[in-house]
Formats: sequence, C-alpha cells, structure tokens
Amino acid sequence: MSINKPSFQGGSHPWKVLIIGAGIGGLSAGIALRSKGYDVEIIEKDPEWTVYGVGIIQQNNVIRAMYELGVIDDYIDAGYGFDHVKIFAPNGMEVAKIPIPPLVEGYPANAGIARPALQKVLAERTNSVGAKIRLGLTAETINDSGDVVDVTFSDGSEAQYDLVIGADGIYSQTRQAIFPQAPRPEFTGQSVWRYNFNRPEGMEGLHVYNGQVGVGLVPMSEEQIYMYITTSEPGSPRFEKSTLADEMKARLQMACPTLHHFAKEITDNEEVVYRPLEWLMLEGDWHKGRIALLGDAVHSTTPHLGQGAGLAIEDALVLADELTQASTPEAAFKNYRNRRFERCDYIVKSSLAICMGQLGKGPLIDNSKATAESIAVVAKPI
Ligand SMILES: Cc1cc2nc3c(=O)[nH]c(=O)nc-3n(C[C@H](O)[C@H](O)[C@H](O)COP(=O)(O)OP(=O)(O)OC[C@H]3O[C@@H](n4cnc5c(N)ncnc54)[C@H](O)[C@@H]3O)c2cc1C
Repeated sequence: MSINKPSFQGGSHPWKVLIIGAGIGGLSAGIALRSKGYDVEIIEKDPEWTVYGVGIIQQNNVIRAMYELGVIDDYIDAGYGFDHVKIFAPNGMEVAKIPIPPLVEGYPANAGIARPALQKVLAERTNSVGAKIRLGLTAETINDSGDVVDVTFSDGSEAQYDLVIGADGIYSQTRQAIFPQAPRPEFTGQSVWRYNFNRPEGMEGLHVYNGQVGVGLVPMSEEQIYMYITTSEPGSPRFEKSTLADEMKARLQMACPTLHHFAKEITDNEEVVYRPLEWLMLEGDWHKGRIALLGDAVHSTTPHLGQGAGLAIEDALVLADELTQASTPEAAFKNYRNRRFERCDYIVKSSLAICMGQLGKGPLIDNSKATAESIAVVAKPI
C-alpha cells in the first residue's frame, strides 16, 4: 500500500500562492500547499459560502486522500463509512454486491457525507494550518508577467503572488481568462434530482437501482441518507421552485416500485436539489505560465461513478507534491497535468458513457462492471 503520511511541515516556502475558489478542490489545495509551508490565500466569490444540503459519495481513493490531507478522523466522524455497493435490477431484485477494499488500514473503504459537513471539515483544517480565506471576492484581473502574478480583486485591492491556482469550478473564470478558446461545459441531456431522508434500518452501503430512471440511495450519517434520481430532461428545462417536490415525486414513480414509498416524504420544495448534468474535459495544458487549474475547472464529470470531488482532492495533493519537487512552477504544473490526465479523462469519459447509455444515445453500460472497474482504477497510487 503506497500512502503518504499526513505531514504538516509548516515553516515558510518562498512562494506565495493565491487559490481562486473555496470549494472542495480549492480548500484541499489550501491544506496541501500550506502543509508544505507555502503562504496561501484563498478567495471565494460567494459571500455566504453556501453549500447545498444533500450529500456526496466518496470512494476508497478519497479516504486515502483525506488521510494524506490529515483530516481523516474528523471526516469519518462527520460522514458514514461503508464497504460495499449493491446494484438492483428495475424490479428491485439485488443483482450484485460489490465489496470495496479499504485502502487505509483501520478506516472504512468508502464514505457518504453531507456537503456542508465536508466543507466544515475542510474549512476547519484550512484555518488550522494557517491558510487565509476571504469571502465575497473575485479576481478582476490576473496579470502574469513571467516572474510574478499581479492580481486586482473585486474590492479594488491588489496583491502580488508567485502562483495562482484556479479552483473555481465548472464555469471557471480563471480558465476563461487563460484559455478563452477552451471548450464550454456541455449539457448531457440528463439531470439529477436529490433529496434527504432518514436512514432506513439496515441501509449500510450505497444502493444503486437501474431502470427507466437511475436511482441511488447513499448513507451520509447514522441518521440520514440522500436519494438521487437521474432522468432524461431534453432541452434542459427549468422548473419553478414551488414545483420541485411534485416534479421529483413524478420521476420517482418511473423508478423501481420498491422505492415508491419514499415519495410521501418528498414534501419540501426548498430541499429538492435539481441539477442539469454537464461535462467538460480540458485536453490541452492545464496551466499557462504561473497560473494553473484544478478540479472541475479542468475536468467536470457527471456523477455516475461518484468521483468528481475525489478527483479535485487528488489534484490538490499531486499539485502540492509536484510543486515541492520541481525547480520552476511551469515544470511542476506540467508534471502535475501528466500525472493526473489519464485518470481524470478515464473518469469523465466512462461516466459520460454510462450517462449516454442510460439516455439511449450509446450502448448500455453494465453498472456493476463499470463501478468495479473504476474502483480498481482509482485505487492505484495517484
Ligand atoms: C449532481 C452532482 C452530483 C455529484 N455527486 C458527486 C459525488 O457523489 N461524488 C463526487 O466525488 N463528486 C460528485 N460530484 C462532483 C463534485 O461536486 C465536483 O466535482 C466538485 O465539487 C468539484 O470541486 P471544485 O472545487 O473543483 O469545484 P466546486 O466545488 O464547484 O467549487 C468551486 C468554488 O469556487 C467558487 N467560485 C466560482 N467562481 C469563482 C470566482 N470567479 N472567484 C472566486 N470563487 C469562485 C464557487 O463559489 C465554489 O465555492 C457531483 C456533481 C454533481 C453536479
């Protein structure tokens, strides 16, 4: 098992880094870089720093990454660890139980966690290692002069950095600034509906249901699970908030009958999280000069293999690792992209293939096989 022990070297590294975006990838990068002694500042556009209340699935590679980030105990306490995925046929029959091998001794193989709980764990660690987070701020101009990067912020202030990391998500302004010709996120034709429920007795792993609509039940604490339903939504319709619970209930009726009883609990329009699924893969460089990108800014995957956030966290660890080893930022950024591209591309394309199969726009992919294969791929060292 090749796992780097979490280490906080502290001290000071001569490079000062600005991270744009305090999401999962930005916070992970803040922790990883600060832990290696970099002076780190993070800016976040959202003044309220809101995160929607449903959860996220995290596979064994994420448990390993959380261990390396030094947050594993708080993370597992805040979520729900599990060791298998069950796949069900459209009639509700269990067709496969895929055991997931743990990658870190003494910790569960996988976890589900509420997004706000994940953010709290990462934000607390970011603060405790001494990275500064400023909310309600964007970078208005980023000027890389070769030796330094000059940044003007939306509050009119200015500062100089050695490196800038764009971790500003799928609609990344940083990507747009350095690669104006980069492809835009593309709508797949599928959307996802999510809602939280009390955890049913005995639900101790991820349950995935195939059928006319795809459904997953994900435990995220002792008390709670969340449900996702993936549905075909041609033209990416928008829905009034006041209709969301009814719309989600209607789609649940297309799922396996054993799940229909959940419908009566979908009552609060405010708690339904609806999201059209888009994807993007940046095939070329992931950096320009002293400015690099990570997470959804360079590889936004549909959630069919539950890996988007995991990839962003791994990016952060690899980027920090390469920066400490290379003599120039450019060399580090190139090595980082080389180490990450194949895995990220595999997850984006495999997830998209599952999505297209479900939509009838490509061959139908066997979920059990695809899940088992992806678990083996991401278990490899990063
Ligand atoms: C429906 C759905 C379900 C998913 N389920 C899973 C799952 O189960 N497991 C999993 O691993 N992944 C899942 N993902 C993917 C996962 O959410 C993303 O891959 C992950 O959030 C990417 O992290 P990030 O930090 O790159 O971007 P984000 O989490 O999007 O963070 C970007 C941050 O940057 C901020 N920002 C944006 N623009 C600016 C700006 N100009 N200046 C400053 N700040 C800015 C944003 O406010 C945000 O805080 C799912 C995605 C979707 C759409």
